[in-house]
Amino acid sequence: MTDGTPTERTTLLTIGAFARTSRLSIKALRLYDEIGLLPPTWTDPETGYRYYEPGQLDRARLVAWLRRLDMPLARIRHVCDLGETDRPAAAAEIREFWLRVEADTAARRELVDFLIDQLSGKEAKMPQATQPLEIRYAALSDRGTVRPENQDAAYAGPRLFAVADGFGEQGDTASSTAIDVLREIDREHDSVVESGDLLNVLQDAAARAHQAVEGIDGRQSGSTLTAMLWTGSQLGLVHIGDSRAYLLRGGRFFQITHDHTLVQSMLDEGRITPQEAESHPQRTLLVQALGGNNDPEPQLHVTDVQAGDRYLLCTDGLSANVPEAEIRRVIGGTADPAGAVAALVELSTRAGGADNVACVVAHIEAHDLSQH
Ligand code: MG
Repeated sequence: MTDGTPTERTTLLTIGAFARTSRLSIKALRLYDEIGLLPPTWTDPETGYRYYEPGQLDRARLVAWLRRLDMPLARIRHVCDLGETDRPAAAAEIREFWLRVEADTAARRELVDFLIDQLSGKEAKMPQATQPLEIRYAALSDRGTVRPENQDAAYAGPRLFAVADGFGEQGDTASSTAIDVLREIDREHDSVVESGDLLNVLQDAAARAHQAVEGIDGRQSGSTLTAMLWTGSQLGLVHIGDSRAYLLRGGRFFQITHDHTLVQSMLDEGRITPQEAESHPQRTLLVQALGGNNDPEPQLHVTDVQAGDRYLLCTDGLSANVPEAEIRRVIGGTADPAGAVAALVELSTRAGGADNVACVVAHIEAHDLSQH
């Protein structure tokens, strides 16, 4: 036997005893040792067995409770460290974590309601499904106040809405190329695209846009692309990157795209919290983009529209700098799309204008037959 006197050793708990008392599994205790969250007092250098002091039980119990809240391990370590020197600060940290969880849950509840409506066919039974619909739209892009050029692009036409956020040496060419390729859909199809073709048409257009952007001769140049194509009763969505599409319907406002960012992947895997994501140093790193090393796998989606729907497409110059509640207020409170895009660009400028910004707003309305 090596170090540790017998008297000291008798007070130590084996990992099995410590696991039973703390309600943490042996497997978890090994992991918490590896990441420095709860290292044992002594590890037998010959057998590798871990031993704990009874005084470590308080920290172990706190870890177990915080795991029940699904707090990420890095944050638990922070709370536990605080708790040893500044208990009110540890309490504040837990309170703040929970406020974020509740805000996140509220936002997701709106998405849940929307999905339940869609899957239960509630929308199809609405009489307005047969009512002719009209679409009004506006697009606007702005350099902001800091960047030397505008690498964002926005387009809105009778059937197509798109935003693109270019990056790299030729970022401006990348974003405008992406949108130009999408606009070919309008030229190729004289009449409306059939519903059955909608996603194929969008997927092919995204693949062509990727090829066109890949061919641009600028170092590390590429672009995001978020676009919607209108059939008269449905909107098809194609999405690559971290620009976003939102829908305001029946007082609920939610993001319908999924960010293709490293940080979003880490969030999905539960490795970081939404709050950690906001300040993460790699938060702008894209896992999918036009012109990137791998062929992008776009998010494709069809939405049955309803009269009253309001759609927003925007680049991260808006969504990363302006709180969602303010964006929602503009979308819900501005009667015409042109006024809405102007107000959104203004909000982004007032938030510092640190990035380029591009947005498209589209309103779906019941066709007013009395005017014909
Ligand atoms: Mg941007």
